[in-house]
Amino acid sequence: MASVLIHYQEIALKGKNRPWFVERLVSNIRTATADLGHVKVRALMGRIELRHPDDDAIWEEVKLRLARVPGIANYSRAIRTPRDLDVIAETALGELADTEARTFRVKAQRADKRFPLTSPEIERQLGGRLKAARDWTVSLTAPELTVRVEILNDEAFCYLRKEPGAGGLPSGVSGRVACLLSGGIDSPVAAYRMIKRGCRVRFVHFHSYPILSKTSQEKAVELAELLTRYQLNSRLYLVAFGEIQRRVVLAVAPPLRVVVYRRLMLLIAERIARRSGAGALVTGEAVGQVASQTLDNMAVIDSVASMPVLRPLVGMDKDEIVNEARRLDSYDISIIPDEDCCTLFTPKHPATRTTERQLEEAESALDMDALVDEAVAGAERRDLKFPVPAVDSQAQAG
Ligand code: ATP
Ligand code: MG
Repeated sequence: MASVLIHYQEIALKGKNRPWFVERLVSNIRTATADLGHVKVRALMGRIELRHPDDDAIWEEVKLRLARVPGIANYSRAIRTPRDLDVIAETALGELADTEARTFRVKAQRADKRFPLTSPEIERQLGGRLKAARDWTVSLTAPELTVRVEILNDEAFCYLRKEPGAGGLPSGVSGRVACLLSGGIDSPVAAYRMIKRGCRVRFVHFHSYPILSKTSQEKAVELAELLTRYQLNSRLYLVAFGEIQRRVVLAVAPPLRVVVYRRLMLLIAERIARRSGAGALVTGEAVGQVASQTLDNMAVIDSVASMPVLRPLVGMDKDEIVNEARRLDSYDISIIPDEDCCTLFTPKHPATRTTERQLEEAESALDMDALVDEAVAGAERRDLKFPVPAVDSQAQAG
């Protein structure tokens, strides 16, 4: 039976918090593979081991799952052996039976410093055994094959390949934020960036149903489901914004409307964020991308919020964001045509420079507090989980 040996990197640096970070990562890996049956996950001397009785059958699926778990630097399918170089050499030769490689090297790591051989000694001795058994040449600089060995307290692991992980920090170690999730390309990428930094991200989507179709909500749900594969559990708030926009149109001159919409979105999202224990807001804005995203406008939009507004994409080009959306698989959902609330009542020429005074004057014609109260009270909440819980057969029957 093979194991999967999982390495983390950044969290190894976190000093006193380290045990907690590792526990979080172990628990996230358990959750991410919970529906694969009989998966065992344990922390093991600076690594994590995952085992499953039928590992061949589920390896491809395990790979998909682990690739998405933030906090994993890399992972490998590994054979667990006793700490005996003869057995390790035999195991490696068994694994290598079909390989065509001509040049190789051994890389050893000794997590148990009491092991009588140093890492270079292990590499030399094991290399010698492999060389003698097969007619191979050692190449330290450009080997076709690297045989990796890790010696722990009670066992050793031997493996050939490392699969890259997502990097970042385990979901849940950096606190909670609320992301304004449109149906567009940018905000899902912004949310992912925060998930990767260990945040639990709540999603807030503004829609204009029933004035417009339900498409934007459906896209937001699909995007939230996709992002849940990375953070494992999510909460999405769907907020009706069409009526609010209608009232803004009646009271505010066209050039200022976009900024007023944004300020209202931020106020509503902030109220929801506070209620769900989030300490910051996240948007997918980048400087200069559209008229509402000038520095002047960002400043007046932020000034209504009393918590930090994080913009993880602020310095990115659109094509960089698009590439990341493709990697994330959100791109295809984002480009489904829809009319979201941004297309509703949006003036042809929104102001690129607005001042706090202009806005306060414009907003004085509105009861901003009442609009926020109403929107928050009417928000619909959806809880999402990955893996998606199986539908209870009884519930289905009943
Ligand atoms: P995106 O691709 O993320 O929609 P965008 O380039 O279309 O971004 P805007 O429409 O100006 O830019 O929106 C800027 C940010 O405001 C979005 O990234 C998102 O965080 C937030 N936002 C915009 N519309 C909505 C909405 N309907 N619901 C929730 N958040 C929104
Ligand atoms: Mg948008």
